[in-house]
Amino acid sequence: MTRIVLATRNAGKITELRAILADAGLPHGLVGADAYPHLPDVKETGVTFAENALLKAHALARATGLPAVADDSGLCVDVLGGAPGIFSARWAGTHGDDTANLDLLLAQLSDIEAPNRGAYFACAAALALPDGTERVVEGRLTGTLRHTPAGTNGFGYDPILQPDGETRTCAELSPAEKNAISHRGKAFRALIPVIRELVG
Ligand code: IMP
Repeated sequence: MTRIVLATRNAGKITELRAILADAGLPHGLVGADAYPHLPDVKETGVTFAENALLKAHALARATGLPAVADDSGLCVDVLGGAPGIFSARWAGTHGDDTANLDLLLAQLSDIEAPNRGAYFACAAALALPDGTERVVEGRLTGTLRHTPAGTNGFGYDPILQPDGETRTCAELSPAEKNAISHRGKAFRALIPVIRELVG
């Protein structure tokens, strides 16, 4: 059985990808990057989700000698030309300050009315092999942005994105409901045939 390593320390992402591999009948064991304590820090110097996912996957495959999966994601707002995009985690200046990021975005969009509040979460998922072989796939979750946050589940911009066809925001969905339609779930599922082809 080949092991695959996932470039994250987030237990939720590992559980999600493990379940997707199992559903697809793939026998690979999935380990998180924290199983390898001395990994180099990867600078996300790419200008697209795909470039950053590939940078992280290649670094991890080189360091571990295993096939490596990495993802990169963010929120893309139509009226902002796709921003915050790759800057989603630090839109208000401090990396990972979800509340400040969300508040700034809502303030920027305060005069924009419903028909023009389209946005999507995007996720690029990359697979890299130690020999440098690479593939990248993408998934999206499209919807509209609310004027005020609602819901307490999830993280980041979940309280303001209402998926198409839903009456609730992502933060009002259960984790299982969100995973079933999420950009990350779609990207990870799109990776299954790639893993079959390149890893076996
Ligand atoms: P990461 O690439 O998973 O670290 O995500 C980067 C940033 O994009 C996060 O800090 C969030 O601000 C935003 N983001 C990505 N995916 C989601 C999501 O599913 N819900 C809410 N925010 C997200």
